[in-house]
Amino acid sequence: MGLLEDLQDRSGKVCEFCGSADTLSIYEVPPVSTGGFDGSVLACSTCIGQIENPDTTDANHWRCLNDSMWSEHDAVKVVAWRMLSRLKSEGWPQDLLDMLYLEPETLEWAKATGEGVLEADKIVHRDANGAILENGDSVVLIKDLKVKGSSMVAKQGTAVRRISLDHENAEYIEGRVDGQQIVIITKYVKKV
Ligand SMILES: [Zn+2]
Repeated sequence: MGLLEDLQDRSGKVCEFCGSADTLSIYEVPPVSTGGFDGSVLACSTCIGQIENPDTTDANHWRCLNDSMWSEHDAVKVVAWRMLSRLKSEGWPQDLLDMLYLEPETLEWAKATGEGVLEADKIVHRDANGAILENGDSVVLIKDLKVKGSSMVAKQGTAVRRISLDHENAEYIEGRVDGQQIVIITKYVKKV
């Protein structure tokens, strides 16, 4: 049997979100590295269309998640989590979200597309080469930096270990140089 037949078998030939029997196709839950039976959902064109085009999302259509979020299949639960996150400002989706328990690795999968996180909240820190910086990384200064509010100059080539990110500003990190906690601009560092 092929994947489509397997999914039809699993779902009873209805959309695994809303129960519609019309225009069903395979929806591979992104990121599709898993794909296949465990990474796919049989869904109708209405559901797939709204999943893929946030602008067309009709909150009322997703009241179907009231039932389908209890699916035993992680792929279904992951999409339920994403749609509820997208719609949580409506109120009732937040209530469902509070009841929806995902195993830690399933939750990671659900969060992988950034659904439910406002664009403005996604702050990514990058070094001079565009490499993403994380809390705890070590960096090297690529030019001499005057330290604000002191006569100190942090020399080019100085290693700064265990940096911390400024969560409000993607251009700033903090780290300790010569025993002093200083703010450093990300474009003047290179991750090591
Ligand atoms: Zn559907």
